[in-house]
Amino acid sequence: MSARIIDGKKIAADVRADITAQVTDRKNAGLPQPGLAAVLVGEDPASQVYVRAKQRACEEVGMLSFGFNLPADCTQSRLEGLLRELNADTRVHGILVQLPLPSGLDEESALNSVALEKDVDGFHPVNIGRLAQKGREPLFIPCTPAGVIHLLKTTLPTLEGKNAVVLGRSNIVGMPVALLLVRENATVTICHSRTQNLPSVTRRANILIAAIGREEMVRGDWIKPGAVVIDVGVNRVEDDTKDRGYRLVGDVAFDEALGVAEAVTPVPGGVGPMTIAMLLRNTLIAAQRQET
Ligand code: NDP
Repeated sequence: MSARIIDGKKIAADVRADITAQVTDRKNAGLPQPGLAAVLVGEDPASQVYVRAKQRACEEVGMLSFGFNLPADCTQSRLEGLLRELNADTRVHGILVQLPLPSGLDEESALNSVALEKDVDGFHPVNIGRLAQKGREPLFIPCTPAGVIHLLKTTLPTLEGKNAVVLGRSNIVGMPVALLLVRENATVTICHSRTQNLPSVTRRANILIAAIGREEMVRGDWIKPGAVVIDVGVNRVEDDTKDRGYRLVGDVAFDEALGVAEAVTPVPGGVGPMTIAMLLRNTLIAAQRQET
């Protein structure tokens, strides 16, 4: 048996095409273009690549993109002053603060400074708090976790009643994915670096989400036959055959997973494209809400 490969690029392209159509409709109706402001502090090369990709994606769907690059040694008050200016700028419907911030800056305080209705990354403590509470709705759902759920819903008729195991409990991926799966009525187990005998836990999963940042740690025999596996991990491994000297691999041994799972996401080309598609979707939703 060879698993179905979940084509994140294609699924993300469909989401983007739908967003492009809606942005065009807005333009034809004389409504303002949705605008996204990206705030990058410091010069981390990976963060620069991510921010550029997000800005390019905005422009491709017809949105406005505003970039702000502050020096790594900028003060908390300068960063939060910029965020307050962007909160007040009517051309800006969504604000993202690229994480991680350089050491010395208070991430929680910075995220708290983003207006709730412009928090398109979904990291404002109030949004995360609402995600965790029954009967409360966050204004925005964090993008990578939203992308994971979108991929699962495209792959499975329902998530209800499934045993889902989430590897990783970070604020950005693992925990919000787990909270979203609970909202979908899955039965959720969260694993982390202190979990004992991981393979025995993962082997019970109908749905397995790997978000640990450990190259190919999840082996084929960790996976329940017929499971759906979503690999969030992005890890660089040295590869002299590549011009850039490395290739990207996930947290799951992909070839081994293919022999066991029902469906599996590749790295790259799985979750990554979905993250940006969900950011665009949140920005469009923000613009729509700010008109009413
Ligand atoms: P973090 O480093 O913040 O969190 C990693 C989590 O994995 C922690 O909860 C940690 O446990 C757990 N963990 C680490 N090692 C092990 C281990 N050996 N066994 C079990 N659990 C372990 O990472 P992120 O959540 O930010 O990112 C996870 C991965 O997803 C990374 O590879 C990252 O690059 C990728 N990513 C991909 C995105 C995309 O768009 N495709 C977006 C964001 C992230 P503990 O809490 O105990 O320390």
